[in-house]
Amino acid sequence: MLELKNKIAIITGARRGMGKSHALKLAEAGAKVVVSDISQEDCRKVVDEIKKNKGEAIAVKCDVTKKEEVENMVKAAVEKWGKVDILVNNAGICQFKPFLELTVEEWDRTLDINLKGYFLCAQAAAKEMVKQKSGVIINIASVEMGQVGGGMPMIVHYCASKGGVVALTEALAVELAPYNVRVNAISPGAIETPMAEASQKDPKLLEQTLAKIPMRRMGQPEEVSNLVLFLASGQSSYITGSTVVIDGGWLAG
Ligand code: NAP
Repeated sequence: MLELKNKIAIITGARRGMGKSHALKLAEAGAKVVVSDISQEDCRKVVDEIKKNKGEAIAVKCDVTKKEEVENMVKAAVEKWGKVDILVNNAGICQFKPFLELTVEEWDRTLDINLKGYFLCAQAAAKEMVKQKSGVIINIASVEMGQVGGGMPMIVHYCASKGGVVALTEALAVELAPYNVRVNAISPGAIETPMAEASQKDPKLLEQTLAKIPMRRMGQPEEVSNLVLFLASGQSSYITGSTVVIDGGWLAG
C-alpha cells in the first residue's frame, strides 16, 4: 500500500543518521532519491547502498544555507528525472550551550541551518511542485518545538529553530494547499543517531533521557522513516499542516 513508484524525492542531511534512513526507506518504496548533504563523498556511499538494493539515487552536495546550492540540488533532480514530488527537510544541527554564554554567531548558525535552510529548500522545491500541481514537503522538527513538555535547557537556539519549523509548516501548508502541495512536520523525541551520541554513550545522560520516555527506550531512525514514508505517500492524502509527534510517549508523560 505504501509505495512511491515513479516519485522523485529529495532528502537533505542524508549522509548519515535519520536522513540516510529516510533515503533508504523511500528508495525501498520505489522512489528515485536525491541523497544530499554537505559531504558528497558520504552521500555516494548511501547511493551505493540504494543501488545495491536495486533502487535509483544520485548524490548531490548541498549546504542548505546556500541558496545557489539548494537551487542546484533541485535542478539536479529535475534534469535527471523531470520533476520533484517529495522534499524531506531533514538537515540540522544541535549544539549544547548554556543560554547565558550563547553567542550571536552560534544563534545565527543554528537558525541558518535549522530554519533558513528549510525555507530555502521548501521554496526551491515548491516552485517545481506548484507547476506540477502536486507535491509533499516533510519538515523534521523535534519534541523541543515549544509544545507542553518540550522545553529543554542548554539548547535554547535549537528549540527556537524547531518551533519556527512548526510555524513554517502550518503557514506553508495553508499557502500551498490550493496547488495540491501538502506540508507536514514530524517531531521526533530521542532517536539513536550520531546527533544524539552523547545521550547514548554517557550512562547518566542516557538515564536522564530515558526517564522522560514512558516507553523507556530511544527510538530507531527507521521508526521515524516509516512515518516519513506514510506522510510522503498517497495514504496520507488528507493530512496537511500537521505536526506528528513520534517520541515513545515523551510529550504525553
Ligand atoms: P545527524 O546524524 O547529525 O544528521 C544530520 C545531518 O545534517 C548530518 O549529516 C549533518 O552533516 C547534516 N547537516 C548539517 N548542516 C548541514 C547543512 N548546512 N547543509 C546540509 N546538511 C547539513 O542528526 P539526526 O539525528 O539524524 O537529525 C536529523 C534531523 O532530525 C535534524 O533536523 C534533527 O534536528 C532532527 N531531530 C533529531 C533527534 C534525535 O534525537 N536524533 C530528535 C529530534 C529531531 P554534518 O555531520 O557534517 O554536520
